[in-house]
Amino acid sequence: MTVPSHARVVVIGGGIAGCSVAYHLTKLGWRDVVLLERRDISCGTTWHAAGLVGQLRATQNLTKLAKYGADLYETLEAETGQATGFRRPGSISLARNAERMHELKRLASMARCFGVEVEVITPSEAGRRWPLIRTDDLVGALWLPRDGRTNPIDTTLALAKGARLGGATICENTAVTGITVRDGAVAGVTTTQGDIACEAVVNCAGMWARDLGRMAGVAVPLHASEHFYIVTEPLAGVTPDLPVLRDPDGYIYVREEVGGLLMGGFEPEAKPWGMSGIPADFAFSLLPEDWDHFQVMMEQAIHRIPAMETAPVRRHVNGPESFTPDGRYLLGEAPECRGFYVAAGFNSIGIASGAGAGKAVAEWIVGGEPPMDLWDVDIRRVAPFQTNPWYLHDRTTEMVGRLYAMHWPFDQFVTARDVRKSVLHDRLAARGAVFGTALGWERANWYARPGVERAYRYSWGRQNWFECSAEEHRAVREAVGLFDQSSFTKLRLEGPDAVMVLQRLCANDVDVPVGRLVYTQMLNARGGIEADLTVTRVAENAYLIVTGASVATHDTDWIRRHLSDARVALTDVTSAYAVLGVMGPRSRALLARLTDADLSNAAFPFLASREIWLASARVRASRVTYVGELGWEIYVPTDQVIGVYDALVGVGDDLGLRHAGYHAMDSLRIEKAYRSWGHDLGSEDTPLEAGLGFAVRLDKRTPFLGREALLAQREKPLHRRLVVFTLEDAEPLVYHDEPILRDGALVGRITSGAYGHTIGRAIGLGYVEHADGVSDAFVESGRWELEIACDRYPVRAQFSPPYDPKSLRVRM
Ligand SMILES: Cc1cc2nc3c(=O)[nH]c(=O)nc-3n(C[C@H](O)[C@H](O)[C@H](O)COP(=O)(O)OP(=O)(O)OC[C@H]3O[C@@H](n4cnc5c(N)ncnc54)[C@H](O)[C@@H]3O)c2cc1C
Repeated sequence: MTVPSHARVVVIGGGIAGCSVAYHLTKLGWRDVVLLERRDISCGTTWHAAGLVGQLRATQNLTKLAKYGADLYETLEAETGQATGFRRPGSISLARNAERMHELKRLASMARCFGVEVEVITPSEAGRRWPLIRTDDLVGALWLPRDGRTNPIDTTLALAKGARLGGATICENTAVTGITVRDGAVAGVTTTQGDIACEAVVNCAGMWARDLGRMAGVAVPLHASEHFYIVTEPLAGVTPDLPVLRDPDGYIYVREEVGGLLMGGFEPEAKPWGMSGIPADFAFSLLPEDWDHFQVMMEQAIHRIPAMETAPVRRHVNGPESFTPDGRYLLGEAPECRGFYVAAGFNSIGIASGAGAGKAVAEWIVGGEPPMDLWDVDIRRVAPFQTNPWYLHDRTTEMVGRLYAMHWPFDQFVTARDVRKSVLHDRLAARGAVFGTALGWERANWYARPGVERAYRYSWGRQNWFECSAEEHRAVREAVGLFDQSSFTKLRLEGPDAVMVLQRLCANDVDVPVGRLVYTQMLNARGGIEADLTVTRVAENAYLIVTGASVATHDTDWIRRHLSDARVALTDVTSAYAVLGVMGPRSRALLARLTDADLSNAAFPFLASREIWLASARVRASRVTYVGELGWEIYVPTDQVIGVYDALVGVGDDLGLRHAGYHAMDSLRIEKAYRSWGHDLGSEDTPLEAGLGFAVRLDKRTPFLGREALLAQREKPLHRRLVVFTLEDAEPLVYHDEPILRDGALVGRITSGAYGHTIGRAIGLGYVEHADGVSDAFVESGRWELEIACDRYPVRAQFSPPYDPKSLRVRM
């Protein structure tokens, strides 16, 4: 078949993702769409999927997309004439122990927030719905009546047919062998059947997507893993309306398949596959059976369903599927190349997510921006180092099992560690640091006191580090704490147009005197918050921009794509500087021992930033805080930080200096209701809704991106506002996505929560919505509760922070 010489969009890959993208592009009226498939539609991973279509996902928007998918699969046959095999037998998830039951109850509460029908049921009720299971060792279960299952091949063919009917051209037996990039943007593709010039490419190449990305210099970190299920011969008592069964403590899922059972799972240690590349001729192919590896799941299945012990196995499937380093799929326009979109790395939920992901990416292409907050799956959350094959291989051994492992709060990866380290890493380790990761960076989360095990012991309640972290917290409130914040992303923007560029991008006024730091947001045209950062004017035409570790790629991309032809250079200087956070009422006294700079409030006020001598180094000291106390962030050239650190530690004992980690920081920041981007702030939240109006200068001379939207929003009562909730009961802990109830009615959900050690209670931040506006009176007059694991707890609601609401301590 010859391919057209031009297309507006070329979709690469005819699995469920590619067909969904093509289908949805045509739904949006784009007909000039070409889908290229190396062999035949669905021949990659899609054809052998088990076809479970669960709806409840980790976030509200991902759940919205999954729910949309189920609804679409339900109607696709009527629309296209191609059957999908979709049905809604519902699903049951079992709990074998109290901790799992707690997780399921938290999920049930979360599901209510997300509008997913759910019911907590007893073991006997689970047994009634699934008569073949043993229930004597169960604590309870979750019943999701609207969960579905589908036939992956037929569903993909239906999407492909819908795309064709909508005007798309589908070329099978056509492999993409190259991508043409011109001036940083996609210009076309080379295929085995000829070249196609195009404006956009969507990489839906499944486990080949990493190689495809490389053709355009785009990092697509994913790795294939062997993934297994078996199908038995028909069994007595197995009927087509049997719900999908998940027994995560036994790593397995089970569903009916032509009168028998299909049983697969997510074993704790997986088998990565295809590290040196996926064979080009791999189509409708499977990998060799591996009964030894499958044994761990087989044993559990027999335990749960005794009839499986003697059930003859009709088919053993070992098919590869791609997994990403954080278990979430990769979506959106790649930061390295304009017009290069990705929808890949589905971590074994591609059938359930394919429809929604395809819709989202199609809307992204047509609308030029993500249609909703998709940060959890946004490809701008990854970094190029993550495509390292050894890193991916190592992480993939862990990622498969994580699907059904307990989703503990503060859970840390155990593989692919130690890939990015602060210069101080070993010194912090010697002090008892227990590390977690953020975009590869090893960061001290807490410090184990002598006698405390230096490892996480997870639970839903207070974990083993709780008291250690509480001491760190108190040291920061009462004396002085030392944080290693070297993982901050640091960007230098300089050039004659630097002020103009940042004035256009920032909602705050950044045309400030040299030596001043500004806290600001960068907004999209809808007024949504794209970045939450500090900007320090370090010279007339130069700024230091500082943002979080995890948003490095995203924030850099946001700034870079808005530079157009401005006369500026943007340089990532993250590795050039270590950052020491010296925080607490005695921070001034501590630093004064090592510097001749005047650190008094008059000479060095809040938000001042200067170069000073500190110990043996020239450093930048910025008076700013994320913990709500007097303090400085000290930017030290990486090669000098060990000397500065040793000096600080050497003179700090009598002032009560303590090393403090990120868990303490979280507790400190939540008491001050400091927001966290990616949780409390995102592209759908405006600064006015988020209570950050103080950082917006609507009247500054240069209009900024998002200003018009804020002006319009200011005219009307705010229907949605971030509120701070403090539990009255000191015991329960708040993490995220707990329902917020006012006078018994659901009005919002928690976006981030932590235990405040000074307040002595858990605190949560969350958006509250109300059609008549969320006024002070509305908040003060209501009876407020949070639902935690299906129980309701009274909370105090307020707009101001529970700790030091006037910020007097920050300005001492
Ligand atoms: C055993 C197993 C069970 C599963 N069960 C479920 C389940 O129950 N529910 C669920 O939601 N998910 C499940 N999954 C996961 C699901 O199958 C995948 O997430 C999904 O199929 C991925 O779809 P895709 O379109 O991204 O990739 P693929 O289906 O692999 O499609 C990619 C396509 O790109 C083509 N391609 C590659 N390179 C090129 C090139 N250079 N030029 C042109 N074309 C190219 C390939 O030929 C391929 O057809 C399961 C997976 C496995 C392995």
